[in-house]
Formats: sequence, structure tokens, C-alpha cells
Amino acid sequence: MIEFGEIIEQQQQYISLCSGETDCNSFLFESNDEIYLNNFMFMFARHLLCQQKGLSCGKCLACQKVNSLSHADLRIYPKNSKSILVDDIKDLIENIYLSPVESDKKVFVLKNFSNATIQAQNKLLKILEEPPKNAYIILGVSNSSKVLPTVMSRCKKMHLQPLDNNFIRQILNDMDGQKAENIVHIAQGNLTKALEYSKDQNFQNIFATCLDTLKNMKNSTQLISYTTRLSANKEEFAIVLNIFESLFRDIMLFRLGRQDLLQNKNLIDDIIVLAQDFDCDCVDKIIRKLSETKKQMEFNCNQTVLMDELLLYILEVKYYATKG
Ligand SMILES: [Zn+2]
Repeated sequence: MIEFGEIIEQQQQYISLCSGETDCNSFLFESNDEIYLNNFMFMFARHLLCQQKGLSCGKCLACQKVNSLSHADLRIYPKNSKSILVDDIKDLIENIYLSPVESDKKVFVLKNFSNATIQAQNKLLKILEEPPKNAYIILGVSNSSKVLPTVMSRCKKMHLQPLDNNFIRQILNDMDGQKAENIVHIAQGNLTKALEYSKDQNFQNIFATCLDTLKNMKNSTQLISYTTRLSANKEEFAIVLNIFESLFRDIMLFRLGRQDLLQNKNLIDDIIVLAQDFDCDCVDKIIRKLSETKKQMEFNCNQTVLMDELLLYILEVKYYATKG
């Protein structure tokens, strides 16, 4: 199986980051793909500490020590908790002014920094204002709006682009072809999600339920039973929204005569049936409603209420399209 490191070294953003001049000591990388983000930071730390020029070689003593997390000049936080606490920053401050032991740099990786407490962020800010020349601070955040603007402004920022589907395919390559293909499209370039879906035994069932809903839900008396099936738990709710999005996208493409671009080519028979019920105007409205629902999800709205609203909307739009 291809390693995450190899995938990261093929990303243009990573290559340009590593080949650029390091005129800056503090970096902030943002992505909602946790596995990709953490590996990206790890690879960048290895690049900074590698004894060879260019991208990290993976073979020198420094790289080997980074790989086994035993490099004396690399510290990774949080140490003992899920998110960064004041104690982590205290530990960083105690260490950052000491001379490097094995290399000429010290590297500090702070994972999940958007969940760091405000006290911890403020404490780090003092260091970011005047970091020692040989010290590198790398912050990973899932959501930069939770980071103090003063911290943000001290860092070189990079928002990581979603991975290309081909990389996700390579990671899932020991999986049954059709299931892998469905997952690749639903994950939308997010490796963490793809791996979650691949472990979810239920994934194929959820897919089938989504299709069943669109094909067979005829009136509002059936709403409750479909809502219950589709909003069972929060993680699956996000999957349902992505599946709907992928299916409606295909319906639109089919109606536009672009069968060659379908994501769910294996479901062509179903797409043909659905395309009779949903015209382009319908699909356009529903896709907008889906992205609205996704935003509401981020604010922790009640998922049963959201699903109820969404299904009702789909029914209405479909009703007016077939009547009108
Ligand atoms: Zn190396």
C-alpha cells in the first residue's frame, strides 16, 4: 500500500512549501482532513530536520529518528490531552530557548490547535512575537476561525487543498472496487472521511437507503419513517448528505447528456429512473438546500429536524416539478 508520506510528497502545496525560502519560523496549516493534516505537518517537520537537501530523504539518521518519534529536537503537542493546554505551552517555552541537541533547529508541532484554550493561545502568542531564530513552530487547525487573529497574523498560513480522488483510491486499494469507488466520491477528497467510511460496515446500507428514499418516498405520511432511518446518528448524517449530493449531481449530469461524467456509473439504471422525477431546476434547488443543511450541521442543529426539513423540501420540489 502507498504510504501517506509518499502522497504528501506529491502535493504541489507541499513541494512549493519545502522548496520556498524559510524566511518565516511559524506556520499554520488548515484542513478539516485530520489524517492528511497531521501527516502533512509531520512530513514538514521531517523536512526541516533532515540532514539532506531538498525534500526529506526518509533515510538519514535524523529522518529515522523523526519516524520513530525519538528525535530530541522535535516535540509534538498535545502531550497528555486531546487539545492543547497551558501546560503544553509551558513545556514548549521551557524547551524552545535550549540549544538543539541533534541538529541546528528545534521543531514544535502543535496538533489540533483550533481547540486550544484561549489561555494557551495567548501564552503561545508571546513566543510567536519573538521566536528564537532556530525554532520552528507548526500549528495544525481544523478551523482557523477559532484561532486568535493575533496568532494567525504571526504565521505563514496555508489552507490545504482536498486530495485528488486518485490518491484516495490508492489508499483504499485493497477494498472491493465498487465500494471503494462509492467512498472515493462521497469523501470528496477528504482522506479521514474516506477511511472512516471504509470502516463503516453500514456504508453500503446507507447508500441503499438514500436511493430508496429518492425513488420511493411519495408523500409526507412517509416522512417520519424515512427521517428516522436517515438521521440515526450524527456521523452517518454527514454521509447521507454527501450521498444525496453525489446522486443529485449525477441526475443533473444525466439530464445534461453527460453520462460519461457520472460518479456513480454503477447506478445508471437508478439515475435514469430518478431523472424522470427531478428536472434540472429541481436538482439545482435541492443541491442548494443540501449545502445549506451542511452549514446548519456545523452549528449542531438537531439532525432529525434538519432531515425532516430536507426530505419535505425534496418532496415539495418534486411535487411542483411533476405538476408544473
Ligand atoms: Zn533525511
